[in-house]
Amino acid sequence: GLRCLKLNSVSRVCSAPADGAQNIRLLQWNILSQTLGQHNDGFVRCPDEALTWQHRKYLIVQEILQNQPDVVCLQEVDHFKFLQTVLGSQNYAGIFFPKPDSPCLYIEQNNGPDGCAIFYKRDKLHLVGYDTRILEVWRVQSNQVAIAARLQLKASGKEFCVCTTHLKARHGALLAKLRNEQGRDLIRFVKQFAGESPLLLCGDFNAEPVEPIYATILGCDLFKLGSAYADMKLEREREWKREQQQPLSHTDSSEDPNELIAQSIKREPPYTTWKIREDGEECHTIDYVFYTPQQLKIKNCLEFPAGEQIGKNRTPSFEYPSDHFSLVCDFELVDEPLSEG
Ligand code: NDP
Ligand code: CA
Repeated sequence: GLRCLKLNSVSRVCSAPADGAQNIRLLQWNILSQTLGQHNDGFVRCPDEALTWQHRKYLIVQEILQNQPDVVCLQEVDHFKFLQTVLGSQNYAGIFFPKPDSPCLYIEQNNGPDGCAIFYKRDKLHLVGYDTRILEVWRVQSNQVAIAARLQLKASGKEFCVCTTHLKARHGALLAKLRNEQGRDLIRFVKQFAGESPLLLCGDFNAEPVEPIYATILGCDLFKLGSAYADMKLEREREWKREQQQPLSHTDSSEDPNELIAQSIKREPPYTTWKIREDGEECHTIDYVFYTPQQLKIKNCLEFPAGEQIGKNRTPSFEYPSDHFSLVCDFELVDEPLSEG
């Protein structure tokens, strides 16, 4: 049922597998590049041993497999072959697209460039086709990429598209502007690929909800998109109000696009990444799962571990192999277009 995602300690397991013919479980995760995590990030509170590939690789695989997602979208993948081999033995097939000039390549003992990857369950889904994109900013290629895939549910023949990306990192107004341009290019790319099909658009956007790109995505006129975690929270609030027989507030039924975006921003999770570098602690919401709410209904979202569970040294750690948490969402493909809200 819907409550399966209440969290139990470190092993964040989503208990009820999404096996219904119309159900799609998506796992979105920046897994932390092995080369960057070990040699570049400066995670000063993480023991060296916890950062070794020997230690991390099975934790990464375990987190993916224990959630039994139908679709897996990953960023900072620099061990695609390993994942392809292991996940391949567990009924998944995958696509990888590296960054054109991955920072990993400038570090000795790298394992190749990092990039984005999409895996899907082979027995449930058929890969109809896919496309890749080096995102452009003011018509010039950047160092950030996206993958879009069209998948067909074998049981029903219905199709949907999944797109994942990892946008430019770091703080500052100019970089926020650059990310916004990458977002605009991403939307153009994915619209061309997906057309009117149901869409899941997820990734590490490296942007807090208040950054321009968030409103660009939710307010774009090519798609009507919602944010899965925020919409789930809104839906639970509405359920609660109904149970309490409380009236809905005027913002609950607003159709003003700016108001809808403001309501969505408010309901994003408190963090999706939490780490300590030399210059201090960073706790941000920068990873998202966006979707087309007229064609997909959000049924459940995996919650994040609380601060006490994560521990004072935050992540990565012996328990958490990445500085980002995985986002896991259950969707239902709806037959008839859903009306607003
Ligand atoms: P990004 O700014 O997108 O960042 C690349 C990676 O660095 C991301 O995976 C990001 O992780 C991570 N990162 C973010 N903040 C920090 C931080 N404070 N400390 C360490 N790592 C961090 O880079 P680009 O892909 O646009 O590539 C530019 C980078 O590539 C340069 O910063 C440079 O280091 C490297 N480079 C080096 C060259 C050289 O000659 N040495 C030449 C060309 C590039 P997340 O998204 O999770 O925040
Ligand atoms: Ca990173």
